[in-house]
Amino acid sequence: MTEPGRGEPESPTGHRPEAEDTDDGDRTDGPAPASVDAAMEAFGEGGLAGYSYAYLDEHTKREVRRTMLSAVAIPGHQVPYASRPMPLARGWGTGGIQASLSLLGPEDVFKVIDQGSDESVNAANIRRLAADTADVDTTTDTTEADVIQTRHRIPEEVLTDEQVLVLQVPITDPLRTVDPSDAANRRRHAHANYGKMWLRLYESVAQHGEIDIGARYPVMVAGRYLMDPSPIPRWDVPKLDDADALFLFAAGREARIYAVPPHTAVEPLAFEDRGFTVERFDDRPCDVCGSTDTYRTEVDTGDGEVRLVCNDVSFCRKRQQRPGLPTDHHLDDPADAGEGGESA
Ligand SMILES: [Zn+2]
Repeated sequence: MTEPGRGEPESPTGHRPEAEDTDDGDRTDGPAPASVDAAMEAFGEGGLAGYSYAYLDEHTKREVRRTMLSAVAIPGHQVPYASRPMPLARGWGTGGIQASLSLLGPEDVFKVIDQGSDESVNAANIRRLAADTADVDTTTDTTEADVIQTRHRIPEEVLTDEQVLVLQVPITDPLRTVDPSDAANRRRHAHANYGKMWLRLYESVAQHGEIDIGARYPVMVAGRYLMDPSPIPRWDVPKLDDADALFLFAAGREARIYAVPPHTAVEPLAFEDRGFTVERFDDRPCDVCGSTDTYRTEVDTGDGEVRLVCNDVSFCRKRQQRPGLPTDHHLDDPADAGEGGESA
């Protein structure tokens, strides 16, 4: 996807990895560190020296921001960009990081979650990279963050028009589940020809009696483009509709960015008599905070017990302290709150 001729280093600061054939690590000048430990140590002590602000060079960040603007202008449309190598493997959130680092400024507060958890290794590393190179404050509180990078979840709490959610995207095109040809799928998007996806849904109903799509539920954006909302649970899909926040979807490996701007209609594909449904938990509350209106996942405690707990860890923790916290997704319409309502 990288445009020809765009692969060479464009950094105005001229930094270029010393090491031989590495296409990710981006240590700057000076001899290569002798060991991983030595490299980590060097990074710890004033590791910013030799790096651009927010790791990426200014040209790259500008290009990523321009791509985001295009994506905002055409909601749901996948816009290609020259995805850069990042200091972690593609598939681990390189697209999300490039988007986040291009957006962050020194005044911003940054939150990173990985499937609802702030504490996963990947989330912690991404957060540290941003804190070290972009000098931002970080938080685990959704309401305090300006930019939230996430993998496979949308936080339970309301996002406001001051917030941007950056979703890491492994597969950009929802049509790839029905046709592996990107060329054919691009034509389908151009013609808004989504018959093949409707057929997939119909076959699913014919075989299973319902639409058997778990995560990556296909949605229509602004009545025009079919979009893959990334592997968020169906629970999170309605949060995209007419939201106050900006959603950016960034795929590093596929080098594409797409967006759902604030107050855009996002409609899950469904039939009149076979509607879109979210996951059910048989009214079993979270074993920790007692919520019945959050997305819960089963956790094996290791001693033979399986507990059902909120997937959004920081919200669960907050609710343990304040049981009445609402999860409604639109500030101006509290009636939209989860059907479970108050709990505890
Ligand atoms: Zn909970």
